Amino acid sequence: MAHVIVIGSGFGGSIAAKRFTEAGHTVELLEMGEDWSKQRALQTADPAFLFRLLRDYPHDYLLTKPRLLVAQGMGLGGGSLVYSAIHLRAPGIAFDGWPAGYTRAHLDPYYARVEARLGVSPLAGAADFPRSRVFAQAAAAAGLPPPVPNPLALSGCTACGWCVPICAFGKKTTMAHTYLADAARTGKLTVRTRRKAAYIARHGNRYRVACWKTDHVERDYHLVNDGALVQVEGDKVVVACGAIESPVLLERSIHADLPKGWEPLRPFSARRLGRGIDGTGDFLQGGFVPQQVDGYKGAVMMMHVDLGEYVLEDVHGIPVGATVMLETRPKGVSKPWGAAYKERFRDYGRHMLGVAIIGRQGNGTAGNITVRDQGGVAITSGDAYHPAPGSIEAARSLITGLGGELADSPWELSKTAFTVHPVGGCAMGDDTDADAIVSAADLGVRENPGLHVIDGSVLPGTALRNPSHTISAVAERAMDVILSVHPRDRWPAT
Ligand SMILES: Cc1cc2nc3c(=O)[nH]c(=O)nc-3n(C[C@H](O)[C@H](O)[C@H](O)COP(=O)(O)OP(=O)(O)OC[C@H]3O[C@@H](n4cnc5c(N)ncnc54)[C@H](O)[C@@H]3O)c2cc1C
Repeated sequence: MAHVIVIGSGFGGSIAAKRFTEAGHTVELLEMGEDWSKQRALQTADPAFLFRLLRDYPHDYLLTKPRLLVAQGMGLGGGSLVYSAIHLRAPGIAFDGWPAGYTRAHLDPYYARVEARLGVSPLAGAADFPRSRVFAQAAAAAGLPPPVPNPLALSGCTACGWCVPICAFGKKTTMAHTYLADAARTGKLTVRTRRKAAYIARHGNRYRVACWKTDHVERDYHLVNDGALVQVEGDKVVVACGAIESPVLLERSIHADLPKGWEPLRPFSARRLGRGIDGTGDFLQGGFVPQQVDGYKGAVMMMHVDLGEYVLEDVHGIPVGATVMLETRPKGVSKPWGAAYKERFRDYGRHMLGVAIIGRQGNGTAGNITVRDQGGVAITSGDAYHPAPGSIEAARSLITGLGGELADSPWELSKTAFTVHPVGGCAMGDDTDADAIVSAADLGVRENPGLHVIDGSVLPGTALRNPSHTISAVAERAMDVILSVHPRDRWPAT
């Protein structure tokens, strides 16, 4: 039985940990963030708390004002700690151009497996909350299809609306509650939090991972890039740091100055490493409507209008911190602070209708985000990032259709955007695709047997929907191949 090192504990990492341990292997899990299972989570937008759970790229966005800001979760459970718990299956058209063996029909059994383990279902009475009713009214007024409830991984939800950044009542069915708990029950899982993997190398026929400790800092663990290195050794390594950090970990590994006796990873084509990342067309719109929305009640996003290339989802009354960060401004208010702003936002919980757009990046910008390593810190590009054609207009028609007043988002104000849904950077490919970072069948890094990437970075394109469900289904499927539940030589038939 192999000793497996899993780096990162989000959707991909947790699924790998469960599957390997249940198959009899021992797993050592390295996570740069904190274990929240015995800590009190707060309902606050205080940055001192938020940035223990969220990593932002670029970190200096307040000063540098990039065109695109990316945020991701961190901690034991990864993005599942901070996410809105939405589990939408990708539509069939999302898989156009993916490697052979990836269609909606191939992934359906895996989606079902994940839904069963996470207890995914619509929130009880989802359509009856004032926000859902106003959203449905707005869709009808705008001539859009009727919204349907989002499948959510929540259990015993109190409907307080504060799922993000973390459920203070433990009602979000995170990967820590489920897949990692299953792995722990086998007695074969060792968890090491506050360890940021610096690089991976070979040692004989095994792998070694060198890590920085992050326990000397209070937040922003993704920025740690110095201090003594601690090492772990294993037969296999699963890189599961997500779309931004997995490519830079591999990049650091290729270029690392190694201690004596350590050997570098075997060369593989890194032409596409850290490239082709897609932000899943995230845009936020909103405004004030005459109807009573009660934006704080219910889950973060309960409904969606399906428009094929993209969806529109109703957004919980965004907490003040996030609103200021996003610089959303109603008409006639020149800056996102001060008395005039405060006055206009006084009643925003009751009357603000927020709309999230999630889908395809438009205007030829699909997959144009890049990331590179700079001294141990991930630096994302600020290239052009555009919404799906017609999506901004559709979102805004939900506000105007109700006779509401539009608020201008950073997109209207300065053509800047914000995504929480990056995918790609270590994209998978067919065996004939020499530049694919990992092979589609088992997500193994080319030329490096026993080294796998299992997370959102392997997606070769957008899932056109909130991506965690597709990341999880892909991870489960790859684990079936890695553990020989499906023989590798029968791929892609299985
Ligand atoms: C506020 C918010 C809300 C969201 N809501 C939804 C939603 O409702 N539905 C949905 O589908 N998606 C949602 N997402 C996106 C979702 O969280 C991500 O798509 C998903 O978590 C990606 O999974 P992953 O396995 O690729 O990596 P992640 O879940 O990001 O996990 C990677 C883990 O690796 C750790 N890590 C990174 N680098 C290192 C390193 N060098 N060493 C050690 N550990 C490392 C990180 O700390 C993190 O815990 C949301 C994201 C945010 C920020």
